Amino acid sequence: MIQEIKGLHHVTSLASDAVENNAFFANVLGLRRVKKTVNFDAPDVYHLYYGDAAGTPGSVMTYFPFVGLNRGRAGTGEVSMTRFSVPPGAIGFWKERFSTLGLQGLKEDRLFGENRLCFHGPDGDPFALVESAGDERTGWTGNVRNDVAIRGFHSASMRLRDDGRTNELLTFMGYQQSDEADGVKRFQIAGGNGADIIDVETAPGSTNSEQGSGSVHHIAFAVENRAAQLEVRQALMDTGYQVTPVIDRDYFWAIYFRTPGGVLFEIATNEPGFDRDEDTAHLGEALKLPTQYEHLRARLEQHLQPLVA
Ligand code: ZN
Repeated sequence: MIQEIKGLHHVTSLASDAVENNAFFANVLGLRRVKKTVNFDAPDVYHLYYGDAAGTPGSVMTYFPFVGLNRGRAGTGEVSMTRFSVPPGAIGFWKERFSTLGLQGLKEDRLFGENRLCFHGPDGDPFALVESAGDERTGWTGNVRNDVAIRGFHSASMRLRDDGRTNELLTFMGYQQSDEADGVKRFQIAGGNGADIIDVETAPGSTNSEQGSGSVHHIAFAVENRAAQLEVRQALMDTGYQVTPVIDRDYFWAIYFRTPGGVLFEIATNEPGFDRDEDTAHLGEALKLPTQYEHLRARLEQHLQPLVA
């Protein structure tokens, strides 16, 4: 078992429209856009990051908005829901806000003893807010009050055809099963960053998911630094996983590997962070380009849709 993983780092999903995506996360959910950059493999596509004031690992929802991308199809082998943590008593505020705005998929229920409000993002993305007592993290209050603001991720849920080897993997990564209800196993990591929970749902009869807009592309787990990342990489490879070399993502270093259930995992460092190339007061405002694409700046600024919020 390894001890370097500290909970979720970020969740990266696919969208079909950058302007709509930005408006939803910044205005509706009240997250701070902490970085406006482009996809490393497709520089004519944005990579947008939303989170708390600093983009603290465990709070960062990121998107690749491919204009006009077809909707994904829900199924097995994917992250089936991403959940954000809100203070106890906050769901009433959000329910009213979401109803007024006509959000789809609104449903209030309880999961593992906590109040939950399910809703869909602009591309049908399955999300929920969970009232979580004892979450000491501070939310971004640019657009919503502190007593209701999103604190960061509460959890992510995976839907798998067969959970056996994924459960083993999570245990190897330092998670422990803490609960089980309605066919969902809850795994929790001790000493994490607050985004400490992964739920695993088994759906043996379901068809495979198909990635498209509204789908999660991958989930990333946090490690403190590059030394810890190298230890995790070695430990995973010793266990038989095929792991990519370390890749510089400008705001963190990343390694990736495919899990037995089909979900793409990343291990990302907490260093150097989103303030490495712009002042904390102005995070996410300017278009930041990876060095290798700087020569394309004029063309990309022309091509990428301007973001209003
Ligand atoms: Zn990532």
